[in-house]
Amino acid sequence: MIFLFVDGIGLREPASDNPVNAEVCPTLWRLLERHSKPIDACLGVEGLPQSATGQSTMFSGVNSAQAVGRHCEGFPGPALRKIIEANNIFLELKRRGRSICFADAYLIDSADELAMRRFKSVTTVMALTVPESITTADDLIADRALMQDLTRETIQDRYPNIPVIPPQRAAEHLFALALEHDFTLFEFFQTDVAGHSMDYARACAVLRVFDRFLAALVHFAEAAGITLVLTSDHGNVESMGERGHTRNPVPFVAFGPGERQVRERVSSLTDVTPALLEAFDRP
Ligand SMILES: [Zn+2]
Repeated sequence: MIFLFVDGIGLREPASDNPVNAEVCPTLWRLLERHSKPIDACLGVEGLPQSATGQSTMFSGVNSAQAVGRHCEGFPGPALRKIIEANNIFLELKRRGRSICFADAYLIDSADELAMRRFKSVTTVMALTVPESITTADDLIADRALMQDLTRETIQDRYPNIPVIPPQRAAEHLFALALEHDFTLFEFFQTDVAGHSMDYARACAVLRVFDRFLAALVHFAEAAGITLVLTSDHGNVESMGERGHTRNPVPFVAFGPGERQVRERVSSLTDVTPALLEAFDRP
């Protein structure tokens, strides 16, 4: 299974400030039309949904916004870290004897270096519970990991020796990792960054890169019988007229073997991890 976590992409009717459309991202659009359902990201808590609680909920199966009584931005604090460290999809899959890869390369030499970081994202806290899932700069150089921006353009000033690649190549790399692991996660957050910029052209550019990656990945996954799952922690980029997040539903895409059963099980972010674990437990 390949899990694409795409930050800050919600569902909204077509509008002149909504770049999530068939012209900008045709492959994503096709998946949204045929293989997806809208799910709740507000979690029964008032206010705008945020990354720390949304992602903690998505990867733990615990409604983290309700647990801490509000939506929390950015990096998870001690209460959220406790939830993630105790329950997350990486740990549960490891307990089931499954192999896990977090495909986003950390530009570090070892997991110890990562553990020392003061601010850790939800996925970093999770990955540290299963350190063998972590990929590093060496993996990136060997094409055994992806850069979070797909093309590696954002690291050219620091790593001029790591070549820029087209998004289709990043899809090839992710597919190779997926063939070697039971569960491969890729996190893409340029969508959320673009959403906050309120720059429509920038959002379109980001979505076009992502869509070229997705088109290649769908092609590979379909041929290999790999299930592809895609979801988001909250809305943002679908409403470029607002700087902040939205309370719109987010898409839950499942494409490939068992897709219907997985989709039927999910109606909010809280259901994502339980539904995926059930898919692995099915004989
Ligand atoms: Zn955001």
